[in-house]
Amino acid sequence: MSPHVGSRVRSSRRSILKVVVIGAGIVGVTTAYEFAERGHQVILIDKREGAGLETSYANGGQLGAGEVAPWAGPEVPWLALKWMGRADGPFRLRLKADPEQWIWLLRFLMRCRASAREERVLPNLGLALLTQSRMDEIAAKLTSEGAPLAFDERRDGIMQIFHYERSLKEAAHGAETMRRAGLEQRVLTAAECVEVEPALASSVQRGEIVGGLYCASDRSGDAHVFTRELAARAERLGVRFVTGAEVERFETQGDRITGVRTNGWLFGGDAVVLAAGIGSAKLARQLGLRIPVYPLKGYSVTVPAGEGVAPKVSLTDEARKIVVSRFGDRMRVAGTAEVSGYDTTLEMPRAKSVLDGLLSLLPQLSAGAGEAQFWTGLRPMSSDGSPLIGQAGRYRNLYLNTGHGSLGWTLGAGSAAALADAVCGETPRLDLTPFNIKRFSFI
Ligand SMILES: Cc1cc2nc3c(=O)[nH]c(=O)nc-3n(C[C@H](O)[C@H](O)[C@H](O)COP(=O)(O)OP(=O)(O)OC[C@H]3O[C@@H](n4cnc5c(N)ncnc54)[C@H](O)[C@@H]3O)c2cc1C
Repeated sequence: MSPHVGSRVRSSRRSILKVVVIGAGIVGVTTAYEFAERGHQVILIDKREGAGLETSYANGGQLGAGEVAPWAGPEVPWLALKWMGRADGPFRLRLKADPEQWIWLLRFLMRCRASAREERVLPNLGLALLTQSRMDEIAAKLTSEGAPLAFDERRDGIMQIFHYERSLKEAAHGAETMRRAGLEQRVLTAAECVEVEPALASSVQRGEIVGGLYCASDRSGDAHVFTRELAARAERLGVRFVTGAEVERFETQGDRITGVRTNGWLFGGDAVVLAAGIGSAKLARQLGLRIPVYPLKGYSVTVPAGEGVAPKVSLTDEARKIVVSRFGDRMRVAGTAEVSGYDTTLEMPRAKSVLDGLLSLLPQLSAGAGEAQFWTGLRPMSSDGSPLIGQAGRYRNLYLNTGHGSLGWTLGAGSAAALADAVCGETPRLDLTPFNIKRFSFI
């Protein structure tokens, strides 16, 4: 092992690194793949029995460069108060006797300003566009090798739909910023929404929708299938995937991590990447690092798409606070945000409120409601709405790739590629400075 991965990489770009990646969700698997593709030795560790079984399992499926603004914004405290106490509200706060939660909430509230939100949009957009192009490159490579990666991807775009003129106007204003940064979004009238997505006809007839914002280049797909399949390809590239192994602690010497200890195993590497989703904060604390990443619980429901009645375009219903994506013959709806610690209990009234949102928007899907599959997951949410990527803390061979919150599918592959560039001393595809942990002033 080299004394410092940074100096080793700079002195000899061709040397083979041994990289330990902790966490096999969408972020960890794409990270492992990136290093393996560059010829490095990778150990991928997860406590679960396979890849993509935690938060990356049944998310909303949107790969939406047009929707990368952080959730923290000026309207959020008022909306939170409005929904407080409503069992079926899209937002819920359950205060815990846990300083980690309070500190995160304080940080989040401090970001509920328009300027703070705007500050994060362009960095996130860069990462989302890199994700799309990197996914294209990976797909092209695997296809050329005769083993295309199928994950129910759709390239029919994503449409945000609005129930109020004011929200539509605000969205149109935001689209200007995106347009200047190179992302085209079209403002639609209600009638144009139906032209683009005929499945919205009944909603428009009921007078619910005043208009939409359509990003034709956005996509959707099944993050779990992608993660699982890419993990298998990574193994074929030589990645050693250790499952059922919970990382419990680290061994350190001076400014280096020398070992990653699981229940029964000790792994060493030149670089250690922490990509453990909501498990990242606890592991980072052991290394003297406080990272502002806290779970935000959400629900998803998957129903049969039915014959010819389901939308092809992925949808974001701004008023109902749900996203809807089609995966082949399945429809997935996802929503709700709950600050309630690490509890993953599936509460049926809340899960049903997400299904109700889908059926009121698209009543034609009611026939499949009896076959609904409910799921809940914990978004690894950073307080400012951007992930933490790059070297961190006093251990020079520790790298973070975590805190992707509600955008892990949208930003995952780009985060992995950019991090691998940085660790391997390659020409960076993206400046990672906006994602460095140093942006948080008090840690
Ligand atoms: C309801 C819902 C809807 C969503 N919709 C979208 C969407 O439409 N688009 C989008 O872009 N994003 C969406 N997201 C967010 C996205 O799913 C997450 O950002 C993403 O899955 C996070 O990926 P990850 O790899 O960081 O975490 P995970 O997928 O949770 O992976 C982390 C892995 O680390 C492992 N791990 C943790 N601790 C340890 C340890 N100590 N030792 C070993 N292994 C460990 C876990 O087992 C897990 O496999 C949604 C999330 C939810 C909950």
